[in-house]
Amino acid sequence: MTTATVDVRQEIRHRFGAFIEERVNPGSEERDVTNTPIPRELLREAAEIGLLSLSLPKDVGGGGADLFTWCSALEEIGFLCRDTSFTATVSLYADVANTIYESGHPHLIERYVSGLARGKLFSASAYSEERDPFNFRSTAVRSAEGLVLNGWKAIVTGGVMADAFMTYFRDEAGDLCVVMVERDDPGLTVEPLVTMGLRAAGHAELTIKDVHVPLGRMVADTDGLTHVQRLLNLRRLTIPCYALGRMRALVNGALEYLSSSERYGLPVTQMKNVQAQLGRVHVSLQMCRVAVDYGLSRLREGKYDPVWDTVFSTVKYFVSQQALALGHSSLHTLGGRGYLSKYGFERYVRDAMGLVAGAGALDILEIDLGAALVSEWETGRWQR
Ligand SMILES: Cc1cc2nc3c(=O)[nH]c(=O)nc-3n(C[C@H](O)[C@H](O)[C@H](O)COP(=O)(O)OP(=O)(O)OC[C@H]3O[C@@H](n4cnc5c(N)ncnc54)[C@H](O)[C@@H]3O)c2cc1C
Repeated sequence: MTTATVDVRQEIRHRFGAFIEERVNPGSEERDVTNTPIPRELLREAAEIGLLSLSLPKDVGGGGADLFTWCSALEEIGFLCRDTSFTATVSLYADVANTIYESGHPHLIERYVSGLARGKLFSASAYSEERDPFNFRSTAVRSAEGLVLNGWKAIVTGGVMADAFMTYFRDEAGDLCVVMVERDDPGLTVEPLVTMGLRAAGHAELTIKDVHVPLGRMVADTDGLTHVQRLLNLRRLTIPCYALGRMRALVNGALEYLSSSERYGLPVTQMKNVQAQLGRVHVSLQMCRVAVDYGLSRLREGKYDPVWDTVFSTVKYFVSQQALALGHSSLHTLGGRGYLSKYGFERYVRDAMGLVAGAGALDILEIDLGAALVSEWETGRWQR
């Protein structure tokens, strides 16, 4: 771990540790069991203390943290926060707002980016609809007054609490455009979804029926595919960062229990089979650390492809696989305790499952990474 990462971690604990401990963690089990979204009040408070707005530019009231600092911060928030739904939602709202900021449209920035910095307006991202983008059923048609929108979006993180949705539509030319749709727009329906894990992340599906919006709501009028790839590209580094934080927390919890659990007068941490499991966990954590740090170093040096970075996709793929394997191995070493909801380990397993499809299915990433390798080989760019 670099000195810069350690500094960020200390700073995050100092600034936000008490808020997470006293405001976010209590009630997190209850929210999980009852499928209750994170209260908007909590998100508003997170904005007020500068957590939700840490990565937003200073000129809109944000903390001005660069991407390296933001990702390092997310790892520590992921570690401290028992509610991964909170970390997932906060990171997504911030990443969406930064994407809107990049559009450069002052009125959109004022409404949606400054709105988030003030904790008043939360925007989610609505892209997926179980189809290829050229075949999207969500369409935007120009009218005399602006745009008429129709369609459906399958799963939107933070959708239940969101005021607005950065939404992708197929236009009349078959290109993708990106439009802000607001919760109060007549014709928009937001339906909460019940999910396996991340149950407080307020996942929702959207139905968009003859929604009329002015042209000024357009974030990008062409090439929405590149637009979403830029967002997902970054998410493939932010997500593994907080996933690693959660992995560290799970290992801490497991070690605490295993070292106090005795069999035949010895803590089970002295059993060779448990040590072997822990050995694999140790290797896994260290390698995730290396992978994340490598991704972060590329961010720091600005040496990454902003649309589809091979290293970011690799980090997402690798850390997700390791996070899933860690959940599985914890069930072996923790016995019945691993299966009981009150200790949080089984929740980790369910939450981690979101990594399989979130920000691009692992199966597809595998194909894309394979294709990237073939292309590098064929064009002589592959460095052995
Ligand atoms: C926790 C979570 C949060 C999410 N949050 C959001 C969000 O905020 N906003 C949003 O828009 N979406 C969100 N999603 C949706 C997510 O982005 C999609 O589920 C993901 O991109 C996969 O798309 P899909 O569900 O259509 O599955 P598919 O693309 O249908 O993939 C399912 C499987 O089909 C096979 N497959 C599909 N296409 C191919 C192909 N071309 N070649 C070979 N095999 C293929 C693969 O085995 C693949 O794993 C979220 C999903 C999860 C689980």
